[in-house]
Amino acid sequence: MAPRALVAGNWKMNGVKSSVSELKSLIDLLDNEAAPNCDVLLCPPATLIGSFVEVANGKAVNIGAQDCHVNVSGAHTGDISAAMIRDIEATHIIVGHSERRADHFETSELVRNKAEAVHKQGLAAIVCVGETEAQRKAGDTIKVVVEDQLLKSLPENALPENTIVAYEPVWAIGTGLTPTIEDVAEVHKSIRSALVERFGNEVGNGFAILYGGSVKPGNAKELMSADNVNGALVGGASLKAVDFNGIIDAYR
Ligand code: PEP
Repeated sequence: MAPRALVAGNWKMNGVKSSVSELKSLIDLLDNEAAPNCDVLLCPPATLIGSFVEVANGKAVNIGAQDCHVNVSGAHTGDISAAMIRDIEATHIIVGHSERRADHFETSELVRNKAEAVHKQGLAAIVCVGETEAQRKAGDTIKVVVEDQLLKSLPENALPENTIVAYEPVWAIGTGLTPTIEDVAEVHKSIRSALVERFGNEVGNGFAILYGGSVKPGNAKELMSADNVNGALVGGASLKAVDFNGIIDAYR
């Protein structure tokens, strides 16, 4: 089955209690405009997940988390588990974002363990992959994205129902730079081929592959039109409801 598109927002370490007003504005926009042909997800910081879930209850936006620990509970100061995230009724967890790979030295093996922890709780993992500028310049993009990251980060029993791939070139995140449509399509095609090879035709073609990196209302439609692009993972432009809704417009 063709993947259902997803437009997901990653608020990173941004947002305080009063930021719920942006979620409310987004819900208003979703209520009052044509329903998009995609799912919508917002991943606020952990401090806001619970209150966002309450506000979004029954609405056209799901709430997710930005990371989790591999264990269910225990002596891991400062961490939160996928079980805790499920307990507050979030639906998705981002794992392996490049900022976590860089800031916390997360390896693809750890990312796979995190994705498995997400699956064990019945939630969906958004598994992020992407090359640095130096890796792209060295001609290593496909090797890094597919071999070093994707194939090592995906659990053996991943399914389209519980796993979404997000291709996010590190050099495009928060910089205003984006790859050409041809470059996006080339990487997404390689990701798709690797998924088909690993999981077979039907399952491999069912995974949604998001593009992330400086997606904005002005470039979303074009980026989302590239082959094998099934939605977006959006950082900065997801903080304002009007901008995020402008990206969702690509699916109206
Ligand atoms: C991200 O961090 O996932 C991201 C894509 O950020 P931005 O949209 O700000 O480039």
